[in-house]
Amino acid sequence: MRVVLATHNPHKVEEFQQIVQQARPDLEVVGYDGPEPVEDGVTFAENALLKARAAAAHTGLAALADDSGICVDVLGGSPGVFSAYWAGQKKDAAANLELLLDQLHDIADPHRRAHFTSTIALVLPDGREHVVEGIWPGRLARTAAGAGGFGYDPIFIPDGQPADAERTVGEFTADEKQAQSHRARAFAALVPLLAAL
Ligand code: IMP
Repeated sequence: MRVVLATHNPHKVEEFQQIVQQARPDLEVVGYDGPEPVEDGVTFAENALLKARAAAAHTGLAALADDSGICVDVLGGSPGVFSAYWAGQKKDAAANLELLLDQLHDIADPHRRAHFTSTIALVLPDGREHVVEGIWPGRLARTAAGAGGFGYDPIFIPDGQPADAERTVGEFTADEKQAQSHRARAFAALVPLLAAL
């Protein structure tokens, strides 16, 4: 059985392939190259569903799609679904991160709470829809640190670290990030759904 993943990013296809195979070795994840919807949803779930529905409709296969971003408490949950283009449509990751740090310039540590969210939608050919979510709680650093990962990783300090040795995700190894990220948590929630397919 094949499952289509609504992304053009080969890295994501591989990542999903690995997780899907753990749950269901008989499932093959294939990339999607059909028409893409405008991502005009105002929640991660809406955008993930838009993408999964389009892929399911175009291919007739079960379809997976994800949407993710960073949510900052003092900004009421923004950047949220605007994470990729917070500083403009150029989708410049460095500019996005700089703008966010600038906006929080005067905000003290206790008020710098934030979390990454990853939302995955699964749309089946018979129209059934499922949405799962993974949250990675933490706070924003005062300055960027580390060159690992991508996007907002250099300014996000996840919870659960020793107080005297806190690091940003930019300073994590890829394995450390993969073991606890929002995406890993959403994948974990997806596994039982795949198993039940
Ligand atoms: P998308 O879900 O791939 O469209 O990601 C949306 C945006 O959220 C990215 O462009 C990043 O700015 C941000 N983002 C999502 N996941 C991560 C992450 O793991 N680290 C850093 N930034 C992320």
